[in-house]
Amino acid sequence: MITDRPPSGPPTARLAWSLLLAALLAGYFVAAHEMSRSLVGGFGSPAGSVLTALVGTLVGALPLVAVLPIALMPDWWWTRRLPAVRFQRGQCPDCGYTTSTFACPECGGDGRVPPQELFTRSGILRFLLLALVSVTVGTLLAEWRIRGDESAFMGEAASQHAAGQSRVSRPRAGWGSFATLRWDPAEGFTAPPPFEDPRIPGWRAAGRSRPGEGN
Ligand SMILES: [Zn+2]
Repeated sequence: MITDRPPSGPPTARLAWSLLLAALLAGYFVAAHEMSRSLVGGFGSPAGSVLTALVGTLVGALPLVAVLPIALMPDWWWTRRLPAVRFQRGQCPDCGYTTSTFACPECGGDGRVPPQELFTRSGILRFLLLALVSVTVGTLLAEWRIRGDESAFMGEAASQHAAGQSRVSRPRAGWGSFATLRWDPAEGFTAPPPFEDPRIPGWRAAGRSRPGEGN
């Protein structure tokens, strides 16, 4: 180690690995948030619906703890395992220069091998930061996709209404396609949670029916 700092891996490879992880996590959060929003329901990103869905998205993030060891693996190789391997080969742990005298004539390393731990404090903190960025990007991206789908549906509803349709509905786009976007003259645009969505067109739950509405 050079002044108690274990060597770090090649910067480009480390950056590429972080970007790959961030992209995969953000993709996961897009899917999680779109499904969560469909389950909660609500048309036009109402704040209550978005916040409730976000709680669902974050709960859905808990299984990602299983990804942590994989995320830490490259850094573990570069900063922990590789120095140990070099030392066993009779090389300087820091730079790989073949020497048995330390400080290393090449890099000045003191010849010590860092402890072989995978779950380092800095590694875990970096992963949490990466997850935080990913959940923010993923959630915003999901909301943007949901809003785009809803405004497309508003256009479709307007033209189908103009063509004489009294009710318009279709599945949401994307990962939350198990929920339905709807328009009817009485309730306007709605996106009910899937389990409250009537399977028979025009059907209303007993509590919600209005006398004389003529459904
Ligand atoms: Zn060296």
